[in-house]
Amino acid sequence: MNDCLFCKIAAGEIPSNKLYEDDQLLAFYDIDPQAPVHFLVIPKKHIESAAALTEADGALLGHIFAVIARLCGELGCEGGYRVVSNVGEDGGQSVKHLHFHVLAKRSLAWPPG
Ligand code: 5GP
Repeated sequence: MNDCLFCKIAAGEIPSNKLYEDDQLLAFYDIDPQAPVHFLVIPKKHIESAAALTEADGALLGHIFAVIARLCGELGCEGGYRVVSNVGEDGGQSVKHLHFHVLAKRSLAWPPG
């Protein structure tokens, strides 16, 4: 996946404002934040989107959500937060590498546009 922007960010080939990193995932701030707190969590391995997940990715997903909860605690998001993963064109996915948006520290409307 040489052309994948988030694979390059995960590999450190493109810089990012990192919040957390381990052997499985990377959390970094979105370059175009839509809330006072807006970061992305990506698996280091290339998965195109949530639509490509399988049962075998269960542990990875549990880890991702546990890290999100910990980071939101550290960032003081006690008012709550939103986790979003856009899938495909209609879902608004612009980067074809699975990522979870985490948005917090403002009141978020529902339904989304
Ligand atoms: P999507 O539209 O695929 O759901 O979300 C992709 C997100 O990646 C967008 O919110 C966009 O601002 C963010 N993004 C795109 N390119 C970069 C980049 O080079 N660095 C960072 N940190 N975020 C990026």
